[in-house]
Amino acid sequence: MENIIPAKIYGLLGYPVAHSLSPSMHNAAFKACSINAEYKLFPVKPEGLEEFLSWNNLKAHNIFGLNVTMPYKEKVIPYINGPSSYTVRLTQAANTIKIYPQKEEEEGFSTDGIGFCWHLQQELKFDYSRKRVAIIGAGGAAKAVSASLAISFSKPVMEYIDNQLDASIQPASITIYDVDKIKASKWAEELGKEAISCEIKSVESIEEMDIKNQDLLINATPVGMRETDPSLIEPDMLGESIFVYDLIYSPPQTKLLNLAREKGLKSSNGLGMLLYQGASAFNIFTGVKPPVEIMRQALFEALK
Ligand code: NAP
Repeated sequence: MENIIPAKIYGLLGYPVAHSLSPSMHNAAFKACSINAEYKLFPVKPEGLEEFLSWNNLKAHNIFGLNVTMPYKEKVIPYINGPSSYTVRLTQAANTIKIYPQKEEEEGFSTDGIGFCWHLQQELKFDYSRKRVAIIGAGGAAKAVSASLAISFSKPVMEYIDNQLDASIQPASITIYDVDKIKASKWAEELGKEAISCEIKSVESIEEMDIKNQDLLINATPVGMRETDPSLIEPDMLGESIFVYDLIYSPPQTKLLNLAREKGLKSSNGLGMLLYQGASAFNIFTGVKPPVEIMRQALFEALK
């Protein structure tokens, strides 16, 4: 009788996760690469997290890898018993966990910053070397992005992006602002200790960011996801040649991106970052070069 090998299960752990585009993207990639695997959604309430991450449960469901989203990126850290990438150790947050059920070992990765830089360098062709960067927000995404910009990338992830991404370039400066000023200053201090050739500072107001004299403005807050959200900045704060990157991808055009468009500035939403963080996670899960164009197509289809 034929021996049927069960599919390896991967998935997105979070709460809620119902509207995630990740299953479409990863399942299309598995199919294109003839990998016997399936990507599922794991909506887990906080009281069920420990049970979900227990070896009994992971083994019972044949789970070999997880992506992690809100509100668990920090909460999963104590469960990762194997090595973690540099960015995970620095930010104390992971969005990708590779699981070895037989060995009962887990490895932690952070692919958000990789996804951001990959999109910026490869697709948007924005050379941020020695440029001035302003980041609004000092939460999980801001930390991952600023760490990847200011320092190079974690080694395991480099295995795939090595030939594609220039990991040696850093901006001249990164200025961080968050409504939670203590969070911003703590992160700036921590990152500043690690970044060698990039000046890191936090400021206490949007005005102090001096956006007019920056080269790249990044929105790493959720402000802009709802139609009723206020505009993060005033139109006259934007300079003539600044690139505006909003990490938000739904809606695809936020108020901030509208401002940039009205001023004729180059800009991007976060869909490319989503694609490349997923491509990087796929590579970590499978060891296979990600079929980026197929993943992109699947994302577009899922968005329709
Ligand atoms: P988070 O951990 O909640 O961080 C957001 C930070 O922004 C918080 O520190 C928050 O402070 C601060 N903030 C809120 N309103 C602000 C304002 N008006 N001015 C300055 N700071 C403000 O969220 P996250 O996980 O980093 O995600 C941030 C955004 O990035 C979300 O929209 C998310 O969807 C997006 N994202 C996109 C991708 C992608 O692949 N494209 C990946 C990850 C995240 P308080 O906590 O005090 O409110």
